[in-house]
Amino acid sequence: MDIQRPRGTADLLPEALGLWSAFERVALREFERANYREIRTPLFEHTELFVRGVGDTTDIVEKEMYSFQDRGGRSLTLRPEGTAGVVRAYVENKRYGRADIDKLYYLGPMFRYERPQSGRSRQFHQYGCEVFGAEAPELDAEVIALSYRILSEFGLTGLTVEVNSVGCDVCRPQHKAAMLRLVQPHAEEFCGDCQRRMERNPLRMFDCKHETCQRLLTELQVPRISDVLCADCREHLEAVLHHTALLGIPCERNPNLVRGLDYYTRTAWEVTVAGHSTVSGGGRYNSLVAELGGPETPGIGFAGGVERAVQLAIDQSLTAGEDERLDVYVVTADQTATDQATSLVDTLRRAGFMADRDFQRRSVKSQVKSADRQHARWMAVLGETELASGTVTVKDMDSGEQEIWPFLEVAERMQERRTKQEGEGK
Ligand code: ATP
Ligand code: MG
Repeated sequence: MDIQRPRGTADLLPEALGLWSAFERVALREFERANYREIRTPLFEHTELFVRGVGDTTDIVEKEMYSFQDRGGRSLTLRPEGTAGVVRAYVENKRYGRADIDKLYYLGPMFRYERPQSGRSRQFHQYGCEVFGAEAPELDAEVIALSYRILSEFGLTGLTVEVNSVGCDVCRPQHKAAMLRLVQPHAEEFCGDCQRRMERNPLRMFDCKHETCQRLLTELQVPRISDVLCADCREHLEAVLHHTALLGIPCERNPNLVRGLDYYTRTAWEVTVAGHSTVSGGGRYNSLVAELGGPETPGIGFAGGVERAVQLAIDQSLTAGEDERLDVYVVTADQTATDQATSLVDTLRRAGFMADRDFQRRSVKSQVKSADRQHARWMAVLGETELASGTVTVKDMDSGEQEIWPFLEVAERMQERRTKQEGEGK
């Protein structure tokens, strides 16, 4: 075949999607129990939104965006993450000015132009949430707990939450000045990215993936933001950790953690499993809503990667449970019975059964094989005799028992059997 899928994308085939659906069910359930409501924003936005909302010193904006010009000459970008779009929607739809805080969650595809490798693709899926309108540390703890619980309820083990504070408008500028005094004289020794970060957002140098840069930061004894937090930020961090402890979330301080996005204030965290890449991460952003044209409104959120959660599940040998079984396979033993087959399948489906039939005019033998292959619970045979007497031969595929039922009573009798079996716990 000469046309293949683009690099960094995947076909999610039915056989692999069992774990995906299981994961998505858990995520949705946890969000909804905590009173979050779903939001769906466009898959593409004006490029400017991400430049301003994610930050122009981030990897995402510097090198990973899928940007293109549409036919009207506008620059659009496939969304690389969810927060910017959700914040834009929050502002554009004037959801501020309500008495209650706004708790939103999302799930869907994201796009980043990355070098494809394990755990890193160009189209991937994120689940996450954003909450607007409260600054209290209890809320940080709730969101941290959600980011942890979705993964633990899914069945993953060995999870740790690494937490840090990245400061605020008070302590960040002082830290920045202190940092620059130390790193600027050694500017050329850092990588090109870090030299740029130095000018625009030196804190992000701590997130550099080059070992030399990290070693230089240590050698030059550059203070970490967590070492120089203002009193309010320190108090906030302690309160967050107090509440996550109440919730039983295994949190560890990581003074080196500075997450990828430019707009975080105070709390930042990541959920990790030793030896694996980060599954999810989040942070508080108290200035982003205003940055995108809304009134000053505090926000907090996290995002996790579905592919990474599912891969961890595979590594930890979790299974999705059995695929749902086909209830009834209708066998057309005589081509004149095709009308009856059509209406029987429809009646069964409307009665709540998963039912199917042959569409290839195959022999009875091949149809029976299909019923077997699909683990049908029952096989309903429509042949010449059945047609003449207005009946259906119904075979229970587990017990092998076979009975003749009136055509019009098939759905009803199957329901009775099912209720009885459920009562017996089968
Ligand atoms: P990394 O440091 O691994 O590049 P990041 O900081 O870019 O991560 P975030 O922007 O915080 O990641 O995204 C949140 C989560 O989304 C990640 O923890 C990961 O699970 C998932 N994710 C991010 N980029 C990709 C990708 N290219 N492919 C698959 N999953 C991804
Ligand atoms: Mg990245």
